[in-house]
Amino acid sequence: MSDLEKLFDSHTHNFDTKNRGIVQVTLSSRENLPFYFSFGVHPEESTVDLAEIEDLCNKFIQKPGFLAIGEIGLDNRYASLDKQEEIFVFQLKLAAKFNKPVILHCVNSWDRCRFLHEKNAPETMLIYHGFNKASITESVLDYPNSIISIGESVLTNQQLQSSLAHIPDTRLLIETDTGKGELIDTYRLVAEIKKLSLQALTELLNQNAKRIFKYE
Ligand SMILES: [Zn+2]
Repeated sequence: MSDLEKLFDSHTHNFDTKNRGIVQVTLSSRENLPFYFSFGVHPEESTVDLAEIEDLCNKFIQKPGFLAIGEIGLDNRYASLDKQEEIFVFQLKLAAKFNKPVILHCVNSWDRCRFLHEKNAPETMLIYHGFNKASITESVLDYPNSIISIGESVLTNQQLQSSLAHIPDTRLLIETDTGKGELIDTYRLVAEIKKLSLQALTELLNQNAKRIFKYE
């Protein structure tokens, strides 16, 4: 296995990724399922058939590579927050039913996302993906079921770099999301800030991923 394949990518939209990671499957990309994948309806999509989402989850649950529900959540840049909540809560309940961790898309809505998660899927882990808002790090870590997943924005976001040192090793993941950069560049910077070797960070994040996503 090459070094790149050992790096775990907790959330990517790239179906051709060379890294080991969780690829995002959506309603429009559900035919060729990746080895590891998550499935969920993004808050940007406001016209969805909830029964269809549940049917797909019932189908995917037979596959060992179905590791998480997501990305789902709330995003206050888009209209129809009531509709977003309805779709988010429905999918949180599916996560609880299937005992799957949740990959969270959250923009300016942390308190509400936490409240709804705690109410509807309290036993599941909540992975705050694309985390880049250093000012709420403490509040997110204060929620015991949360995990922080960081992408390439850390390369240029100095506040995020500073708060990274305070994120416990066991609560951290790294992702590419829709980024165009290389996952290894984010790994290298995080390793440097956390004063770990690249290998030690890779092992650590693989352990985290196994614990959180329970894959073989
Ligand atoms: Zn994404």
